[in-house]
Amino acid sequence: MREASDYVLIGGGLASAAAAQAIRTRDPERSIVIVGEEIHPPYERPPLSKDYLLSDEWTSEKAFLKPDGFYADKRIELRTGVKATAIDRVARTVMLNTGDRVRYEKLLLATGARARRLNGQGRDLAGVFVLRTLSDAEALRRAILQSKRAVMVGAGYIGMEVASACAQRGIETTVVDRNNRPWSGFASPALGGFLREYYEARGVRFLLGDEVATFVGDGQLAAVTTKSGEKIEADLAVVGIGAILNTELAREAGLEVDERHGVKVNAFLQTADPHIWAAGDIAFFEDLALDRQWHVEHFMNAEWQGDAAGAIMAGERKPYNKVAYFFSDLFDIHMCLRGAPSAGTQTVVLGDLPGAEFVELSHDHAGRLQMGVAITRDPSRLDPLADILEGLIRERANVQALSAAAFDL
Ligand SMILES: Cc1cc2nc3c(=O)[nH]c(=O)nc-3n(C[C@H](O)[C@H](O)[C@H](O)COP(=O)(O)OP(=O)(O)OC[C@H]3O[C@@H](n4cnc5c(N)ncnc54)[C@H](O)[C@@H]3O)c2cc1C
Repeated sequence: MREASDYVLIGGGLASAAAAQAIRTRDPERSIVIVGEEIHPPYERPPLSKDYLLSDEWTSEKAFLKPDGFYADKRIELRTGVKATAIDRVARTVMLNTGDRVRYEKLLLATGARARRLNGQGRDLAGVFVLRTLSDAEALRRAILQSKRAVMVGAGYIGMEVASACAQRGIETTVVDRNNRPWSGFASPALGGFLREYYEARGVRFLLGDEVATFVGDGQLAAVTTKSGEKIEADLAVVGIGAILNTELAREAGLEVDERHGVKVNAFLQTADPHIWAAGDIAFFEDLALDRQWHVEHFMNAEWQGDAAGAIMAGERKPYNKVAYFFSDLFDIHMCLRGAPSAGTQTVVLGDLPGAEFVELSHDHAGRLQMGVAITRDPSRLDPLADILEGLIRERANVQALSAAAFDL
C-alpha cells in the first residue's frame, strides 16, 4: 500500500516520541507517523537495568513514556512491530517490512542502537544475556530470580548497574573487564577506584585486566572462562560491552555516516538532505555547548534532541544547545555526569570521596572545566549539582578557583 505522511519518524524510542510531541505542539494539523520495530510503544530504558531488576512490582507498563491513549489523542499514528527497510530520497519514500511505502515531507532518523554481543564460544547458551530492550529485561529478570552466581562482562554503566541489582538480590556477583577500573570510558583512577571499593564492600568481586573468553555449559550456562585462564562458576552472564548504532538505513540511503559516531547532522540536527534530520543515540551532531562534533548515547540527549528536532522540523530555527548529561544509580548512590570526557585532562576531587558525597572535575591544560561527575547518596541533591556543573562548564570555569563550597558539599 502507498501512503503519505507529512512527518515520518523512524524508530519507536525516546527521541521519536519526544519529536512527535514537539511537532504536535507546534503543528496541530499535519500527519505524523512513528515507525518502530519493537512491539512496545516508546518506553524509558534506564529503569531496565535498575528498578525493573530490583523490584518484582515493577511492571513493563511503568516504563512506557506516555499514558494509554496519548498517541491517538494527539493523532500520532504509532506503528509498532514495523521496520523501515529502505529510504528512497529522490521519491521521498520509506519502505517498510510490511510491504507498505510511506511518502514523507520531513523525515526523522532516530533508530538508536542495539547491544553489542560477544563472539566467544557458548554465546547462545541459556543464561547469557544482553540488555537493550524491554523484552531483554523481562527475560533477564526471570533469570535473576533463579540465579545464584552471576558474571558481568564489562564494567561500563550497564555492567555496573546490573551488578548492583544482582548483588542486592543476594547473588554472588563477579565483574570482568579488560581495563583496570570500572567506568574506564570516563572515570579517572580515583573515581574508578572509589566505585570498585564501594562494590567490593558490598560483596562484588572484580576481575580486571582480564577478558571473558568462553561461556561453558550444556544448553544452560554453568561457567565463564577468561583469557588469563580463570574459570568462574555462573548460571547467569550479562554482556555489557557497549552498543552498535543502527545506522544501516542512513548509510544505504547515501547519507553521510561516521563509522563510530553515527549520522552526520549540523547544529539544527539536519543532515545534508534538507528533508532529513537525526536525533538521539545515532546523531553525530555539532555540539555548540561543548564545541565538538560527537554523538551521545544517553537518555537526556535523546529526549532533548528529539524535542529540538521536532521543533525544528515544525519550523523553529533554534539550534540544539545542551550540555551533555548522564545519570546512574548504583546501590544507594546516585551519580550525574555533565560535559564530555577528553583525552589528556586532569582531575580534582572536591568533597568527601570515602563518604560518597563529592564531585570530580576534569580540566584541560589551562585549568578549564571540561567534565564534572557528582556522586551523592541524597537523590534530591542530584539535579542541583547537575545544574551547577552545567553553569560552570558553560563558562569554562577555572577548576583551581573552585572549592567544595561552590557545590554546597
Ligand atoms: C538498559 C539501559 C539502561 C540505560 N540507562 C541509562 C541511564 O541510566 N542514564 C542515561 O543517561 N542513559 C541510559 N541509557 C541510554 C538511553 O536509554 C539511550 O541513550 C536512549 O534510549 C536513546 O534513545 P533513542 O531514541 O535515540 O534510541 P533507542 O532508545 O535505541 O530507540 C530506537 C528505536 O528504534 C528502533 N529501530 C531501529 N531501527 C529501526 C528501523 N529500521 N525501523 C523501525 N524501528 C527501528 C529500535 O528497535 C528502537 O526501539 C540506558 C540504555 C539501556 C539500554
